[in-house]
Amino acid sequence: MGRPAVLVIAGSDSSGGAGLARDVRTLETMGADALCAVTAVTAQTDGEVLGVYPVPPDQLRAQIDAALATRPINAIKIGMLAGRGALEVVAQALRAVPGVPVVLDPVLRASSGGALLEDPGFEVLRTRLFPQVTVLTPNIPEAAALCGEPAPRDDPGRERLVEWAAELLAQGPGAVLLKGGHARGATVADLLARRGSSAVWFTGPRLAATRRGTGCALASAIAASLAAGADLEDACRRGREHVRALLEEVQSQGASGERNGELAVHG
Ligand code: PLP
Repeated sequence: MGRPAVLVIAGSDSSGGAGLARDVRTLETMGADALCAVTAVTAQTDGEVLGVYPVPPDQLRAQIDAALATRPINAIKIGMLAGRGALEVVAQALRAVPGVPVVLDPVLRASSGGALLEDPGFEVLRTRLFPQVTVLTPNIPEAAALCGEPAPRDDPGRERLVEWAAELLAQGPGAVLLKGGHARGATVADLLARRGSSAVWFTGPRLAATRRGTGCALASAIAASLAAGADLEDACRRGREHVRALLEEVQSQGASGERNGELAVHG
């Protein structure tokens, strides 16, 4: 097979750290070709979301259809969806490509705090999109929100992560990679929960570095690996390695905290 192709359905980030720009750079690094459908244009700095301009649903649909008509797609990565219109369009479009692995990063907010999905989108996300998803990649605040809870103030602990992952699995996706980057402690632990298989913990030392778009990079790297034929556990491992390399780059430049973002893996 030639280079695998990944369709990215995501929003743009004018600061360049997250969103589509990060996705395309990640796919390039991982050896996959990116096809793109833009869900929303955002005006952002590293510290603030200044504006969200959703692409009209029919124009999003036209982009997805054109991408699918261009060449066979080996995986799909979904990031920011902005609102209900995009959610409905994407949920419908996925039905045309059964069997293609889908990685959904349930982007709710930028790390600056600005909202990237309106609240009425939540229910559609759960009912229409999750059942078509191979792996959902929430961070802790996203997992809590999707389970109807406020973001925890303290470290939730591994047992809570297991409970959230089980609750999210029950909402329909084939697997959940719950990212532990927002927890505390010297070790970062991410939990992969899969339907019908045992859970896997990925652990590593917490790096003293921050960077925007680590969540986007992780989901895209997983999609690139699935597109190349890796199994899910291996794809998650490769995705984490990619993000670790991004954070080590910041560390080695001595630029820890150069950008706003959460500690360690993942946005
Ligand atoms: N902006 C856009 C358009 C995104 O898609 C995302 C994440 O997927 C973010 C911002 C969030 O990135 P960060 O947590 O680095 O702010």
